[in-house]
Amino acid sequence: MDQRITKTEDEWRRELTPAQYRVLRQAGTEPPFAGEYFDCHDDGMYRCAACGAELFRSDTKFDSGTGWPSFTEAAGSAVELHKDLSHGMLRTEVRCRACGSHLGHVFNDGPRPTGKRFCINSCALDLDRTPAAAPAPTGAEGGAA
Ligand SMILES: [Zn+2]
Repeated sequence: MDQRITKTEDEWRRELTPAQYRVLRQAGTEPPFAGEYFDCHDDGMYRCAACGAELFRSDTKFDSGTGWPSFTEAAGSAVELHKDLSHGMLRTEVRCRACGSHLGHVFNDGPRPTGKRFCINSCALDLDRTPAAAPAPTGAEGGAA
């Protein structure tokens, strides 16, 4: 389950929007209060915008006031953490384990019980609003996605 997705930078550039490419592949940061998800309270699974891996559950999302989507924990072992010394700060970078894309940073000033604040760029995420509890209807709609 540790399969890494490897693509060339040209492939990533073709598949991602310029904003996504800058964040996911060049470790950029989107402006606060500008992303799609910082004020989103919908239920679902936040997936990696680059590869679709399940990263964060909506029930771990909280309002941090920072202007970026914030979570208390990652789903399973979906992310990996790296020491980040850029910009003269010691921070912990959060990357998608499956494809290595940059997602954001994690800080130790989050709410209980984890005390973690995963500060993630909206454009690195893709909210899958399918409610986990509802059984998928079959047959009625023809099934074409
Ligand atoms: Zn990914």
